[in-house]
Amino acid sequence: MTIKLLVATRNPGKVEEYRTLLADLPVEITWLEAEGITLDVEETGISFEDNALIKALTYARVSGLLTWADDSGLEVDALGGWPGIASARHAGPDATDAERTQILLRRLQGVPYERRTAVFRCVVALATPDGQTWTASGASSGVITESPQGEGGFGYDPVFYIPKYGRTYAQLDPAEKNDLSHRGRAARKAKILLERYLKSVGSGDQ
Ligand code: IMP
Repeated sequence: MTIKLLVATRNPGKVEEYRTLLADLPVEITWLEAEGITLDVEETGISFEDNALIKALTYARVSGLLTWADDSGLEVDALGGWPGIASARHAGPDATDAERTQILLRRLQGVPYERRTAVFRCVVALATPDGQTWTASGASSGVITESPQGEGGFGYDPVFYIPKYGRTYAQLDPAEKNDLSHRGRAARKAKILLERYLKSVGSGDQ
């Protein structure tokens, strides 16, 4: 038996990433567009975990489907963890990734390399329509550069430098980024929880 899994995002890139990750599980992946779900959930939580759970629970209830949702963001040590859960919206709803990144760089002007450390965090939440939930988290450490470097990725990728690789997230290929990224790490843990749930409800049995 295959179970339908709603990936609660409007980002087709994320859907493809998760489709690849979960390809060997007995789930049929769908997403908000494919289900015709137009509801936007307000992220009112005070942590990535809160917001991932709010999204997973709300969309599971609305769709009647097992739901996978994530929430992520960047915490910059010299800025007391800012922008954190405001990573996507600290410059208002219409700002671009480049504008948000420029604001971050301005706030770090004059801060030396050794104090430009930051952590990307991600929480993946799973929820059933009847309200059972599971969460998994992942983190990845780096240093904020003084100017953008690299063309790949999105968001803060061009300024998130990984000393071990000598490159920013935007200079890694997608498989490399996925290997060490906050989202890759959280997703691989969440996959184990999903697998356990599927076994518990007899999905995958012949
Ligand atoms: P979301 O929760 O994945 O939508 O991410 C919230 C915000 O955090 C995004 O708008 C990005 O600005 C930032 N962000 C999350 N993950 C990444 C990443 O892998 N690279 C760059 N920026 C990211």
